Amino acid sequence: MERDVLEVDVLVIGAGAAGLACAIRLADAVQEAGRETSILVLEKGAEVGNHILSGAVMDLRALDELIPDHAERGFPGGVPVARDEMRFLTAGGRAWKAPITPPGLRNHGHRIVSMYQVTRWLSGQAEERGVDVYPGFAGAELLVEDGAVCGVRTADMGRGSDGRPKDTFEPGMDVRAQVTVLAEGPRGSLTKRLISDLSLDDGCNPQIYATGVKEVWQTPAKDMEGRVIHTLGAPLTGLVVGGGFIYGQEDGRISLGLVTGLDYEDAGFDPHAAFSAFKAHPFVEGILEGGSMLRYGAKTIPEGGWYAMPRMSGAGFCIVGDGAGLVNMMRLKGVHLAMKSGALAGETVFRALDVDDASADVMSGYEDALRSSWAGREMKSVRNFRQALSLGTWAGPAVAGLHGVTGGFLPWWRMRTAAGHTHMARASGSKVPAAPAREGLVFDKLTDVYHSGTVHEEDQPCHLVVTEPDLCANRCTEEFGNPCQHFCPANVYEWGREGAAGLTINAANCVHCKTCDIADPYQIIQWTVPEGGGGPVYIDM
Ligand code: SF4
Repeated sequence: MERDVLEVDVLVIGAGAAGLACAIRLADAVQEAGRETSILVLEKGAEVGNHILSGAVMDLRALDELIPDHAERGFPGGVPVARDEMRFLTAGGRAWKAPITPPGLRNHGHRIVSMYQVTRWLSGQAEERGVDVYPGFAGAELLVEDGAVCGVRTADMGRGSDGRPKDTFEPGMDVRAQVTVLAEGPRGSLTKRLISDLSLDDGCNPQIYATGVKEVWQTPAKDMEGRVIHTLGAPLTGLVVGGGFIYGQEDGRISLGLVTGLDYEDAGFDPHAAFSAFKAHPFVEGILEGGSMLRYGAKTIPEGGWYAMPRMSGAGFCIVGDGAGLVNMMRLKGVHLAMKSGALAGETVFRALDVDDASADVMSGYEDALRSSWAGREMKSVRNFRQALSLGTWAGPAVAGLHGVTGGFLPWWRMRTAAGHTHMARASGSKVPAAPAREGLVFDKLTDVYHSGTVHEEDQPCHLVVTEPDLCANRCTEEFGNPCQHFCPANVYEWGREGAAGLTINAANCVHCKTCDIADPYQIIQWTVPEGGGGPVYIDM
């Protein structure tokens, strides 16, 4: 098959905060040196920002370094944090307020933002510097020659569900580059493959992920602007590591969500149902009273920290942002770390181009710079935090708190964890109390998917590949009761649907959260990229 070939100097996969920071820093360095360099950013969403979902309370440190005059350049900085609080929600409907907010969750000076708006603005900043940003193109396959990554092949367009070309068929193009920067976000399909093929995670703790389920509401609340609330307790108490967040944006708009670790035991656990129960807690319901839901989405978060960070570079490539596991779980933040990693990658890529050498040795300069930067030191200072939380309802927060207040000194040894999916126990039915039916407050998954704006071409090969269907239909049914039908927050997997035998995969509903790829107990679900442009539309998320 003949494919178009596009040659660029540097290719960035993913127009999130990390990928765009990389492109901007590199473009600035190129401009300062008076050089000509072609930089291309490919984004699988139909528009930049469509697939971006985060809380988000943003620490501006990396942005201050990258674009010091961001305020004059119209940075969409949302609202400043005015008040922090930590609440413990009880099953009986109480919301105990912690007397002090833990140091890691003090957010004064930070901004409550929409990462949809932030990434769209960053994309504009990159384009002003001569970077090409192509949304609607998904990187489907890495191009590798002589052991070095030399670009990607984009996904074919116009194949039918049987895999055959339709009239509209257009083969994906080969984009060849001296350096490829992988900025796919958590559990990117190319990044996952590369980590596995090159054993980049040898000697690391397995990454621990969580799934965050989020909605944005418009409410009549007058006192929420700038208010940041984090919650522990109900409905997760003793069942799952996680907690809730409620962030007050401008004009009564509220972002809220529940983050649940994917290292749980309960095979019937359903992050969407848990989020519904969270909203139905009287404290949360009171905040949302009189409001209406605008948007819904879900996304995974790499929580494993310092000891789960893989090697982040090799011949012809580097990995930035969530793909490199850059999230500080004590602060519940990653955007600033992602941007710093992108900027440092941009500097290393500039050096590689300068000496015309993108070997593993030269590219390792990125990882060295990252680990010794403030971002690396921040990650190291909380290196056991998430592992400590896995110790249980009471010991977990106690040890994690000790770790936080001693700046990572105690416990000083490396705490190890097993991969999240290995914790899943035999089918038992979910223990999370079901959310009461509340019209206008609690929604079923399909209603929520509608509010995610998700659209895919229906007649295309299924991008969710069950590699061992027999195992799925027999052993998984017996042993775990097909947990995919519970952990997917978008009702993609249906078991025993009326009129259909076995598993039905409603791939068009997929919000690209990657939970299935991570949480499946046998690791037989592979998330692959659908045709470029498909997926959620997270406007203002
Ligand atoms: Fe998330 Fe997988 Fe469901 Fe898609 S199919 S929404 S990636 S769990």
